[in-house]
Amino acid sequence: MQHVFNVWQNIKKRLWSAKKVLLLLDFDGTLTPIVKRPREAELSSEMEGILKFLAKKKGFEVAIISGRSISDLKQKIKIRNIIYVGNHGLEIERKGEKFIYPQASKSIPTMKELKKILKAKLRSIKGTIVEDKRVGLAVHYRMVKNSDVPELKRTVGQIFRPFMEKGKIKIGYGKKILEAKPPIIWDKGKAASMLLDSFKQEKPLSFYLGDDKTDEDAFSALDGKGITVFVGKPRKSKAKFFLKNVGEVGIFLKRLFALKVGGRKTRCTKKSPV
Ligand SMILES: [Mg+2]
Repeated sequence: MQHVFNVWQNIKKRLWSAKKVLLLLDFDGTLTPIVKRPREAELSSEMEGILKFLAKKKGFEVAIISGRSISDLKQKIKIRNIIYVGNHGLEIERKGEKFIYPQASKSIPTMKELKKILKAKLRSIKGTIVEDKRVGLAVHYRMVKNSDVPELKRTVGQIFRPFMEKGKIKIGYGKKILEAKPPIIWDKGKAASMLLDSFKQEKPLSFYLGDDKTDEDAFSALDGKGITVFVGKPRKSKAKFFLKNVGEVGIFLKRLFALKVGGRKTRCTKKSPV
């Protein structure tokens, strides 16, 4: 995995020869540092400023793609002219038009039922947060004592299992989070590809930045199509490049803003690492 700034010249060239740029950005851990309580995550005013500029920049499209629901994301990011992708791709909002993956809404009653059971059974484990995301449900355990985590996982597993066996949910894992998702083959990767394809002839140069397991689906889906960037200490990942932390993501976005899209014909050789 190479550091993005080490291949900056190639990125510059790719931008010059692109007609459009599609920036696909995860939220938690990518644009904001991970916090104990998910509700406390806050976009810094600096990051918000950069995103606002990028959203207005000619030739740029900015999409935020997160496990959070869109209504939750919109509390955190108050920027117009960006595309919101929530619940790992199950909901998309673009220019005021909303898309919900058709089968996802069928899961709403199941999620409600699960929420009741989880809240009752996890009451005794201090620090657990059960989050209702409408078409999904998340159990956050970042604040749970380490010694209580095995019990939490066992309990959640026992509750999820019958629902999973009946084909009502699938289970997702992330950073200190266990999730129930609609039993659909749909993920951030499929949503990212769908967005990219929607630009048709414009064939944007795409960037995908993410820090967690669910972003790996997007890294695979965009392999060979876009520039995939893992955010964090380099590890085994499907991404080709990395940035060390949220701070570097900010610098990267600022640097991108300074570049020009299109206007120069540059042939990218096969040798080019980007
Ligand atoms: Mg993340």
